[in-house]
Amino acid sequence: MGKVIMVIDDSPTIRVSVEIALKSTGVEVKQAENGQDALDKIKEITDAGGEIALCISDINMPVMNGIDFIKEFRKVDKFTPVVVLTTEAEKETIQKGKEAGASGWIIKPFQAEDLVNVVKRFVK
Ligand SMILES: [Mg+2]
Repeated sequence: MGKVIMVIDDSPTIRVSVEIALKSTGVEVKQAENGQDALDKIKEITDAGGEIALCISDINMPVMNGIDFIKEFRKVDKFTPVVVLTTEAEKETIQKGKEAGASGWIIKPFQAEDLVNVVKRFVK
């Protein structure tokens, strides 16, 4: 297993649209439905020798939200970029995300091009 982009959102529609948008990058995409699911899957991937290249995370999710996910993820990984998917209405959550260790954000509704540009910027 090589580099993996982890897409974390409780909306299956969003997860699938992000995955489709990222097809052209050629980087493998894995989906998680909340922060805890993402932490579990990231551990499985890294235990198997894979590398998380980027996390793209929603904020509002059941079980574990995006802010708590970033805080927990940063305890085990200081450097892998985490880009937050957010809506205009969540401007203050962008600030909370930054404080938790987010690397950038994408405003919903996003274009495929926005996601591809984020991958080009953060995945080396
Ligand atoms: Mg959500």
